[in-house]
Amino acid sequence: MSALEAGGWRLEAGGWCLASGVWGLGSGLRSPRPGVRGRGSGWALGVVAALAFVACGGDGGSANGQMVPVAGAPEFPADSAFELLRRQVEFGPRVPGSEGHAAQLAWMTEYLRERADTLALQPFTHRTGAGETLELTNLLARFRPDDGTRILLVAHWDTRPRADLEGTPEDRATPIPGANDGASGTAVLLQLADVLSRHPPPIGVDLLLVDGEDWGPAGYDMYLGAKHFAANTPQGYRPLYGVLVDLVGDRNPVYPIEGNSQHYAPEVVDRVWRMAERLGHGARFPRRTGPTVTDDHVPLNQGGIRTIDIIDFDYGPGNRYWHTLEDDLDQVAPTGLGVVGEVLVGLIWNGG
Ligand SMILES: [Zn+2]
Repeated sequence: MSALEAGGWRLEAGGWCLASGVWGLGSGLRSPRPGVRGRGSGWALGVVAALAFVACGGDGGSANGQMVPVAGAPEFPADSAFELLRRQVEFGPRVPGSEGHAAQLAWMTEYLRERADTLALQPFTHRTGAGETLELTNLLARFRPDDGTRILLVAHWDTRPRADLEGTPEDRATPIPGANDGASGTAVLLQLADVLSRHPPPIGVDLLLVDGEDWGPAGYDMYLGAKHFAANTPQGYRPLYGVLVDLVGDRNPVYPIEGNSQHYAPEVVDRVWRMAERLGHGARFPRRTGPTVTDDHVPLNQGGIRTIDIIDFDYGPGNRYWHTLEDDLDQVAPTGLGVVGEVLVGLIWNGG
């Protein structure tokens, strides 16, 4: 059932093609689109191809504010996604080393194994600044794994070990429930896995669930899974771009443009926000710059994968539920999961 791969990857589910190389991108991009191939030039040419697509009318757009559906795009069921969020919260905090963390890993592994074309686990350890050793696992669920034209979608599945922003000092050592911070982005990606299993996508899609994003309290001990993935990608790995989803599930979801995304990958921001507008979600994806957030997309960009962050860093009045015990089921809703899921489905069925 499993085989060790370079970089510590372990292939979990067969299906596609271990024999011909799970990371079958090493010999150059294979793309159904002429002009999109070759190392280093893949993205630039991808942009050219995308622009040509727009010029030909393939992208539709919504100049008059009207919704223009993407041909063939399946529905993204927000309520089912919300059930996947609830299920995670019911495991308890998913703090590395905890029972909830182990239970969630087992559950996600089974869920994705049943749905993805291939599933690889990437276990690794991290020695924290305080001297603890964390046992962490990234999961990479791939659809059309040997398609050279592909996108990477990312969320963190772990939760914060301490509610450091609680008003009451005694509560600050307690782990947060992580209904929004952890479970929301993960729920979108898991639901997307289910959609893609029933509706084979027109391009390759990689769903990356990273561990150890929120250990902290700060920099060196955060974004651990994204840092590890960026340093140990599958051989020849060159997605067109990446999209991180984080804190997407609050009751009033609004996703302004995040500062680091605009800095590292403005063309990806434009592409994603244009899709949101096209699908009638422009009010939830305003073209104003919101907070600049250090998140999993930063190490991915530094590792060469142009990645943006869809994030609503305004969780409750004045962001007051973030990293507190209030980050629970009472403060989240299906709306944002549905909106973000629809945008991701639109991107996939639009060719990336
Ligand atoms: Zn967090």
